[in-house]
Amino acid sequence: STLFSAIDMAPRDPILGVTETFNADTNPSKVNLGVGVYYDDNGKVPLLACVQKAEALLMEKAAPRTYLPIEGLAAYDRAVQDLVFGADSAVVREKRAITAQAIGGTGALKLGADFLKRFSPDAQIYISDPSWENHRALFESAGFQVNTYPYYDASTRGVNFDGMLQALQTMPAGSVVVLHACCHNPTGADLSDAQWTQIIEVVTTRGLIPFLDMAYQGFGEGIEADGQVVRRFADAGGPLFVSNSFSKSFSLYGERVGALSIVAASAEEAARVMSQLKRVIRTNYSNPPSHGGQVVATVLSTPELRQLWEDELAGMRVRIREMRAAFVAGLKEAAPNHNFDFVMQQRGMFSYSGLSKEQVTVLREQHSVYAVDTGRICVAALNSKNIGHVLSAIAQVL
Ligand code: PMP
Repeated sequence: STLFSAIDMAPRDPILGVTETFNADTNPSKVNLGVGVYYDDNGKVPLLACVQKAEALLMEKAAPRTYLPIEGLAAYDRAVQDLVFGADSAVVREKRAITAQAIGGTGALKLGADFLKRFSPDAQIYISDPSWENHRALFESAGFQVNTYPYYDASTRGVNFDGMLQALQTMPAGSVVVLHACCHNPTGADLSDAQWTQIIEVVTTRGLIPFLDMAYQGFGEGIEADGQVVRRFADAGGPLFVSNSFSKSFSLYGERVGALSIVAASAEEAARVMSQLKRVIRTNYSNPPSHGGQVVATVLSTPELRQLWEDELAGMRVRIREMRAAFVAGLKEAAPNHNFDFVMQQRGMFSYSGLSKEQVTVLREQHSVYAVDTGRICVAALNSKNIGHVLSAIAQVL
């Protein structure tokens, strides 16, 4: 046999698989709610005006394309820290937080996972049940065993908070707990401020390591409000890991812009952490690509562009909320025996709709409406033109 002759075909990515089937569908009224992307009301991925303006400024500068530092563009890393922790936060002022540009949110998670594997190789990793499907695979590929903590409660369509809290109380000290900072993917169900207070308390007192994943800042209640969980954890002291992504909030998916931040106990400790994180980066891809980081840094540090971004992000957030409201109101009319009010409580791009795998199959096969088998729908893929078809299809499968 040869090197490749015994290699099995890897399973298809479940979500990208939905899109492949969707692309092959010839029904003109087909709708893909299986995606993880924000579309505007015309069904297009927006190119934000703040991004175009920043790119025009960068083009004018015509700077040479040198290598970035290992940890990325300094102006970018600074802007990320200010956004994520607050410029006046203690961890930034005291230089206890370090930030490295990463290849999207995924790259940030992988850097964190590889770093943890070097310095806490036997740690148990805990992710929410359910979670973004790549969380498990990422930490497993870094060599960890990955466990889950209870999160979603299908009977209440909310968070199984008692179950989650109990799980945190029994994890071994030093375990890494991956938490969605806002806009939980896939369920859309977030914790309340009061619940976060209890989570922070138990994570801190039990010596667990929080790893906050923030891929949707600005899609819930607003940039500031959505960032509160990260700031509250930072105030509680380190160690803390934060991965963040601008894929959605800047509509820069393919540019791969994210960052990993780590909070340590002192500036001196943080410097040692950064030196080791740079080794992880150096041996993976040496240094990050520059374009996306330049764009985001330019927008965040130029007051007019920053304001434009906040307005454009608010526009996306408001449109999603309008689609949630239209979804609930439309189903109230089309399926009065069913209650979808919970969809208004959910936040971010996604909703666990409560549709079963069988209902999702009928939606796909008979109505060309594509959702994930778990019933996850992307509310940000609904628009004023396709929602009528989606609502009547759902009413027929209920
Ligand atoms: N974390 C979560 C919870 C996500 O939903 C996503 C992307 N869908 C990511 C991380 C990864 O972000 P990126 O696309 O920037 O790699």
